[in-house]
Amino acid sequence: MKRPLILALIFTSQVVCLNATILPPSDSTQTFKIITKSRLIRLIDSVFDLEEPSPRDMDLLHYYASILKDNKSDTVRVGNLDLGDLSFYSKSDEQLLFPPVKLEDIPASQNIIAENSIFGFYCAPFKNIVTSNYGWRDGKMHKGIDIDLNRGDKVCAAFAGKVRIAKKQGGFGNVVILMHLNGLETVYAHLSRLKVKPGDIVQSGQVIGLGGNTGHSRGTHLHFEIRYKGYPLNPGAIISFTENKLYHHTITLKNNGRDLCAFPANSNLHKVKPGESWYVIAHRYGLSMKELMTLNAVDRRYKLKPGQQLRIN
Ligand SMILES: [Zn+2]
Repeated sequence: MKRPLILALIFTSQVVCLNATILPPSDSTQTFKIITKSRLIRLIDSVFDLEEPSPRDMDLLHYYASILKDNKSDTVRVGNLDLGDLSFYSKSDEQLLFPPVKLEDIPASQNIIAENSIFGFYCAPFKNIVTSNYGWRDGKMHKGIDIDLNRGDKVCAAFAGKVRIAKKQGGFGNVVILMHLNGLETVYAHLSRLKVKPGDIVQSGQVIGLGGNTGHSRGTHLHFEIRYKGYPLNPGAIISFTENKLYHHTITLKNNGRDLCAFPANSNLHKVKPGESWYVIAHRYGLSMKELMTLNAVDRRYKLKPGQQLRIN
């Protein structure tokens, strides 16, 4: 996007705001935060950094711009967007864990904002060691990561959102699925107790359940997934589970026609060519194989596929 557009948006935002969909709702449950004007400008900048902003990103941009235009003091009052309005899936889909969306309907590349003052900030679902990574395990795809915990430990929402699923479901056991404003969903499985119900609005860090061993689970642990339109993403590619923070506030999603891959938006990528091995690629960028695998949050069992992209810094 071209930066001069911001001026046009700020000066036309009054007109844009008449279209009330971009303004936070006026109901009494609405909460507001006070942030500095320079912080707001950085938020606007973060939308301009996106190559292909989604309609939701544009709503945010208009919303920020309208606040900036009307405010003359050093601090501004920013409302949360209406989490209650999340309608990623239709009502009839609430019984399905992951309603099908066609992969070809997802853009080849897009950036989505994972945390900021509006969406809230990431909070570790449970702070402990990762006992199993994302990837193929004994011929089966492990679509999330496993975090060690004890029965009864408090499991928290990774981001603010709305509860879509909170029930007992097959191998997941007691599972909670949260929808987030940016289109991501997070999944928390094998819980001993559910602490939320479908439709609840949750804040980042709010307790949504207690750790357990329900469903297909050997030993108490949290199975945690991040999905976009039903497609699993590697949580380890987005979140540092040793430092309990996001690698970057914005995530790049790449659709390679087989699956979706997530990367921190500030990372450089390498496209795997036929015949290239972990060793060859690592060597090319002056990395050890272990460093390259750690960057991509996979281990030796992960098989490279030509055409897929790897993070190389
Ligand atoms: Zn698992």
